[in-house]
Amino acid sequence: MAEFTMELNDEQKEVRDWLHGFAADVIRPAAAEWDEREETPWPVIQEAAKVGIYSLDFYAQQYFDPTGLGIPMAMEELFWGDAGIALSIVGTGLAAVGVLANGTEEQIGTWIPQMYGDANDVKVAAFCSSEPDAGSDVASMRTRAVYDEAKDEWVLNGTKTWATNGGIANVHVVVAVVDAELGSKGHASFIVPPNTPGLSQGQKFKKHGIRASHTAEVVLENVRVPGSCLLGGKERLDQRLARARERAKTGGERVKNAAMATFEASRPAVGAMAVGTARAAYEVALDYAKTREQFGRPIIDNQGVAFQLADMRTSIDAARLLVWRASWMAINGKQFTAAEGSMSKLFASETAKKVTAQAVQILGGNGYTREYPVERMHRDAAIYTIFEGTSEIQRLVIARTLSGMSIR
Ligand SMILES: Cc1cc2nc3c(=O)[nH]c(=O)nc-3n(C[C@H](O)[C@H](O)[C@H](O)COP(=O)(O)OP(=O)(O)OC[C@H]3O[C@@H](n4cnc5c(N)ncnc54)[C@H](O)[C@@H]3O)c2cc1C
Repeated sequence: MAEFTMELNDEQKEVRDWLHGFAADVIRPAAAEWDEREETPWPVIQEAAKVGIYSLDFYAQQYFDPTGLGIPMAMEELFWGDAGIALSIVGTGLAAVGVLANGTEEQIGTWIPQMYGDANDVKVAAFCSSEPDAGSDVASMRTRAVYDEAKDEWVLNGTKTWATNGGIANVHVVVAVVDAELGSKGHASFIVPPNTPGLSQGQKFKKHGIRASHTAEVVLENVRVPGSCLLGGKERLDQRLARARERAKTGGERVKNAAMATFEASRPAVGAMAVGTARAAYEVALDYAKTREQFGRPIIDNQGVAFQLADMRTSIDAARLLVWRASWMAINGKQFTAAEGSMSKLFASETAKKVTAQAVQILGGNGYTREYPVERMHRDAAIYTIFEGTSEIQRLVIARTLSGMSIR
């Protein structure tokens, strides 16, 4: 087990500086354009693929860093560049984590490479769990997967919504109900391979922020996938369902559902994204406050402004520490006894919302215009308290973990 450390080693610093260079030279200069276009920035993803930032190898290397700091460091730097473009670069990762968390070695080896494609032909992937009537309340999911034993195929029907890369993905990972009586314990994840008939994109959403990231409905109409596309395989699913049925009768050990296994692993990473956006806005505000003069002196020469900057930086550093702690715990197999993953996502996302709002205020009229990036960063930051579990749901998870009670 790696000791918890707040100091990056030389190798990590090298990777961080390399990512920072890409974020500063490639992502940040393209941010305003793709935000206005509200389209997936394919050329930037391709650029990232060429230098090795958009690849399974890169994320696997960061993921298995025993200090746990590889992923949060990468997320912070890329999202410091721009949240919308960075989400287009790392959005595939959520689907990849869905496969890593629930799939067999063979499934991991077959599908994850197809999620990324290669530098000459980049692809993206989508993780589709949310539905119009099943956002926070995952147990209300309606998309059904029915097994056709004669053909060894699963038949999927339903409508997914708010899926990052939904409809434009090469590979979709779809969570569906296989046993409606078991609530969220009766869910399973499926791979929908490229060009499978019956899967189509519904509405593409026009959003408040992260507008360079594609968010859409995914409609599944009699989508047939081979039995081998059930993540984890049929035998493991049958065992898991049998345990869940037993528990429903007797109240035994807890069984994790498929979507939750994905989210637990990814929450600190979302916290790190929020830290990146918050830091970006703070840096712009600090520079601005030092150079903007009113009443014959820089505005930072007023405690009213300087103290805001002090609070912003303090919150950002505190958020990063929570994220790093959760990431270190996760990679070293330490159990989240106080929902530390949720804690890190909650605090970092609320920090990003607050800090970006403060940055707009410090830039005054300029902060409110698209001439300066804090306006975009403020819009972008609002997503962190919503996706992968809203702040209220994180508080619910933390409170339930601390109390051992089913607080509602
Ligand atoms: C840009 C974007 C990208 C997304 N990407 C994906 C993706 O790739 N894949 C995917 O599957 N999903 C994705 N989502 C969906 C996202 O995870 C959901 O929006 C989120 O889980 C919240 O669900 P909801 O929108 O239905 O809100 P609701 O669940 O309807 O919640 C509405 C409000 O009620 C509050 N609330 C609900 N229940 C409780 C409670 N018990 N106690 C207290 N407050 C409560 C919530 O906190 C929230 O403030 C994305 C969403 C967006 C906007």
